[in-house]
Amino acid sequence: VVSGLDVLDHPGATVGLGALVDHHCHGLVTDDLDRAGFEGYMNEAVRASPLGTTLFDSMLGLAIRRWCAPLLDLEPLAPAEEYLARRTELGATEVSRRLMHATGIDTFVVDTGLTPELVTPPADLADLAGARGHHDVVRLEAVAQQVLRDSPAGAGDFAEEVTARLTSSEGVAFKSIAAYRVGLDLPGSKPSADDLAAALSEVRPGPEGTYRLAHPVVNGWLAWTAVEIGRPLQLHVGYGDNDVDLADCDPLRLTAFLRATEERGVPVLLLHNYPFHRNAAYLAQVFEHAFMDVGLGTHNAGAFSDAMLRESMELVPFGKLLFSSDAYGLAELYLLATLLFRRNLGGLLGSLLDAGEMSPGDAAYVAGLVARDNARRVYGLT
Ligand SMILES: [Zn+2]
Repeated sequence: VVSGLDVLDHPGATVGLGALVDHHCHGLVTDDLDRAGFEGYMNEAVRASPLGTTLFDSMLGLAIRRWCAPLLDLEPLAPAEEYLARRTELGATEVSRRLMHATGIDTFVVDTGLTPELVTPPADLADLAGARGHHDVVRLEAVAQQVLRDSPAGAGDFAEEVTARLTSSEGVAFKSIAAYRVGLDLPGSKPSADDLAAALSEVRPGPEGTYRLAHPVVNGWLAWTAVEIGRPLQLHVGYGDNDVDLADCDPLRLTAFLRATEERGVPVLLLHNYPFHRNAAYLAQVFEHAFMDVGLGTHNAGAFSDAMLRESMELVPFGKLLFSSDAYGLAELYLLATLLFRRNLGGLLGSLLDAGEMSPGDAAYVAGLVARDNARRVYGLT
């Protein structure tokens, strides 16, 4: 599946994973980027700090130089300057095509709500990778903000209109970014119409008439509405850019919400989770409808990322763990997310096989679940 790079060469990665379903990811920037532009997309920092050094001085930077450079016809660990010069020479589209083809992603489940004006639409993303298909995930806050913009009317209309737009949307799932706006203390029951009306009366537009919904009652109402509609609900958890108050993003804060929504049987997917991935694994074990991934943290931690997968697997049921890249902007992040995931999961399963702790049949079964079958089951993909 992986052309140009044989990940099975890595010590320990004795179990191949085959095609991947990426259940949480974003579009690519196909403009040519200068060094500052490239570093601006590398990790969750806005840019390289004038008080620090380059963002290439990190586990992610090493991983880009180690694994992406050869796909651009450079030696492994070519210096960052050389890498970026070659990237410019080939052009971002050709670089994206090469790297995306090497990911072995078969199906993309794309969060289309983050800067759609800057990145490739899902169909182009799938084309660049030679993938089989793509599906959209609809952001709750984006839909609600658009409704407020279109008709800043009463709460009754708001509730009806948001519900109608979500219900008629094509998404295979909804996504909440409550973590970014109000933290993860989502309510243990759906806010009443009166509570929603009172909350909306406090919501004001920004200078250009746009809205940024950040009210615990409104964001909580959106998450509850998504569960009532009955499509899988993705929740940003843990690690993110400096817009997030990470202290409020421990998934254990979702306990009341998970307890209250469990009987509905609608999957709730805890995204990224680092550095709270052990807590997420616990929740996935004890709540029937909770699922998790370790996207984003994986490529950022580079060669050290095996620990977070291993720590997740201590408790998470194998049927509750999914692959995601959470790549955004740079094809390099897709390549690394997939390569490291293949290496980490293949390596862990290989070590269990070698130790006689699982059979070859067990290893192939678990690899298939995590690489694609869990995502297909949860989102009803064909
Ligand atoms: Zn994300």
